[in-house]
Amino acid sequence: MTDFGGAIKPLDESPDYKLAILGVPFDEKSSYLRGAAGGPRAIRTVSTSKCYCGWTELGVNLETDTVMVDLGDVDTSGDPDKTFGLIEKAVDAILAKGAVPIVLGGDHSITYPVIKAFARKFKPLDILHLDAHPDLYDDLYGDRLSHACPFARILEDGLAANLVQVGVRAVTDAHRRLALKRGVRMIEMKDITEPLFLKFTNPTYVSFDLDVLDPAFAPGVSHHEPGGLTTRQAVQVIQALKGQVVGLDVVELNAARDLQGLTAAAAFKIIKETAGRIVRP
Ligand code: MN
Ligand code: MN
Repeated sequence: MTDFGGAIKPLDESPDYKLAILGVPFDEKSSYLRGAAGGPRAIRTVSTSKCYCGWTELGVNLETDTVMVDLGDVDTSGDPDKTFGLIEKAVDAILAKGAVPIVLGGDHSITYPVIKAFARKFKPLDILHLDAHPDLYDDLYGDRLSHACPFARILEDGLAANLVQVGVRAVTDAHRRLALKRGVRMIEMKDITEPLFLKFTNPTYVSFDLDVLDPAFAPGVSHHEPGGLTTRQAVQVIQALKGQVVGLDVVELNAARDLQGLTAAAAFKIIKETAGRIVRP
């Protein structure tokens, strides 16, 4: 079912893999609609090579220029604390091999445990966060691990040397002030009038919340926030990024709201183009 344009190799024949897909079917920290737990399955389904090949736009062939495996899903059947522990452990194991994790969400709460693992290996670590929302709530309805909070936790724990947020357009004054105070570079959607050429000096993690895309391009998300990036604008940001990308998550795909798998296809496109940049910086 999963071959990412023919790029996925059998794990038993590829112990020295370079890129690892890891699914996290988890949406218990979603504040509005559930459904993001179906994300990994929807992305895997759309990615078969019967529809797509392994070539990226920039000329990397993921089938031959790297070794990509699919490690399956993290066990999310326990309580959230247990799941978060298992996420950290699974990411740790991939990083210990020197490979690059590509994490399929799940809601955005999963990024906090993922980054905990990354921050142990990469010090300092930079983060590029694409999202309609800054996800900087100290808590949401009393839950400090809500999908509205991961970047508040990441800042609080000092896990990111630089945090750049792109495409946000549902921002409170308090979050603007917090961003300013904590040195977060918030590139709001209202200010994006031209292509972005971002440069990172430290190893860089990319966290891609699919609701950064305009709902016209990506309707399969729980929070429709109109006026977002086109898929092309998002691809441009990834392709033009200067720096070493060491990890990626693509989160908040709610397949129940998708149309003809369009959002899943956009997710796969983002994964492909980012993987291409990882293989050839
Ligand atoms: Mn988010
Ligand atoms: Mn969002």
